[in-house]
Amino acid sequence: MFIVAMSTALFSFGQFTLPPLPYGYDALEPYFDKQTMEIHHDKHHDAYVKNLNKEVSANIALTGKSIEEICKNISKYNVATRNNGGGHYNHSMFWTILAPKSTELKGVLLDDINKTYGSFDNFKNQFSDTAKSRFGSGWAWLIVGEDGQLKITSTANQDNPLMDIAKVKGTPILCLDVWEHAYYLKYQNKRVDYIGAFWSIVNWSEVSNRYAAAKGK
Ligand code: MN
Repeated sequence: MFIVAMSTALFSFGQFTLPPLPYGYDALEPYFDKQTMEIHHDKHHDAYVKNLNKEVSANIALTGKSIEEICKNISKYNVATRNNGGGHYNHSMFWTILAPKSTELKGVLLDDINKTYGSFDNFKNQFSDTAKSRFGSGWAWLIVGEDGQLKITSTANQDNPLMDIAKVKGTPILCLDVWEHAYYLKYQNKRVDYIGAFWSIVNWSEVSNRYAAAKGK
């Protein structure tokens, strides 16, 4: 019995693992509520990881690949890999660019946002509009495009701008999940209110670090 239980437990480990939330489930209250964070991380993100691992065990070409490599070559893989691989990458990033107390944006990224969008408020308005107008499920992104410029874009479902099938490609530095599962318990149909709340909990120091890393490539 013990051996069977052990091997079952070992078998459940796959190439990809659910990263723990970097803060408590209730840490983003009152903006993102505790119950939504629990379900979003422990159920939705966990399912993407489990289903991605199923694809890995069925396709030797995925073995040993990082999630970034898989996304960048997503046209080579099946739809389940695209949906669950994207789901894993997107949510792993999303948790890290949020923080219980929004940090202040300053430095090079603020300067470049001001240069590109005229002002920080203009940038926030454009990003919010993009998130608001994504029809159905998807994500809004701020990326460093292949030309090195900041760009706001959105993707459907669990696609992301790393993917070779993306219309606008680049390295994501900020993202917002606009699937209904991300906000419906607290905000119901009011996606605009959810987007407004998001700005109070952005981890700008993490976004700035991602910007520096993307520019350094
Ligand atoms: Mn989600």
